[in-house]
Amino acid sequence: MTALPLTDRIALVTGASRGIGRAIALELAAAGAKVAVNYASSAGAADEVVAAIAAAGGEAFAVKADVSQESEVEALFAAVIERWGRLDVLVNNAGITRDTLLLRMKRDDWQSVLDLNLGGVFLCSRAAAKIMLKQRSGRIINIASVVGEMGNPGQANYSAAKAGVIGLTKTVAKELASRGITVNAVAPGFIATDMTSELAAEKLLEVIPLGRYGEAAEVAGVVRFLAADPAAAYITGQVINIDGGLVMA
Ligand code: NAP
Repeated sequence: MTALPLTDRIALVTGASRGIGRAIALELAAAGAKVAVNYASSAGAADEVVAAIAAAGGEAFAVKADVSQESEVEALFAAVIERWGRLDVLVNNAGITRDTLLLRMKRDDWQSVLDLNLGGVFLCSRAAAKIMLKQRSGRIINIASVVGEMGNPGQANYSAAKAGVIGLTKTVAKELASRGITVNAVAPGFIATDMTSELAAEKLLEVIPLGRYGEAAEVAGVVRFLAADPAAAYITGQVINIDGGLVMA
């Protein structure tokens, strides 16, 4: 039997209880990785992801941590190291929205989105880098968004955070490249999850060349590719759009 592309790799996916993170956890596990399933509050949903991975013959465990909090991030990475002794793939996926127009945006709407969607990526990337630098190998994959590239009315906080994720990706890619660690981002367009369930679908579909929302599994497939060796070994500092053609540079 041929080995799966990620056999024996250790992966951590933040915000893996629902939506895109859930799909990524299932996809990496299907490719042979052992997966730490992080969540903030949905313990039952995270346990269901772990059970689905186990039912398919894989290995996973759920870890509660608010990744915007430094001490909880430290505990999260310690839990992964205690269990498996290394970390090969970090997927920074956890994210929230607090959408409203600029003039109505409260300081707290701004701060909470920046703290998680950008601050969480910083805290987790730094924690992963400490481990991966010693290993002299690793993959960090950040979930950005097309709105970090093109803006979106009502999402000043979210689009600023996602643009920040793109800048952070490129800087960390440059800092870690000499140690065999790659850092890339994917920028999804509109993907059918809880996060997008209240958006006005009809208007949006008109501007998406492929004429439909994306599926979480379609994001997960690209993340799996970026985590795989040797397929993506020579790719770093890149942003890959998964958006049905919404952004064409
Ligand atoms: P979602 O369905 O709302 O799921 C969000 C996930 O993040 C949940 O697992 C949630 O855990 C977790 N989370 C929330 N706050 C957290 C915290 N403080 N610490 C750790 N985990 C936390 O969202 P999604 O649509 O899958 O989005 C996932 C990522 O893709 C986000 O970064 C989002 O910005 C990005 N993205 C989404 C789209 C889209 O169209 N859906 C497009 C572009 C980019 P609990 O279940 O415990 O709350």
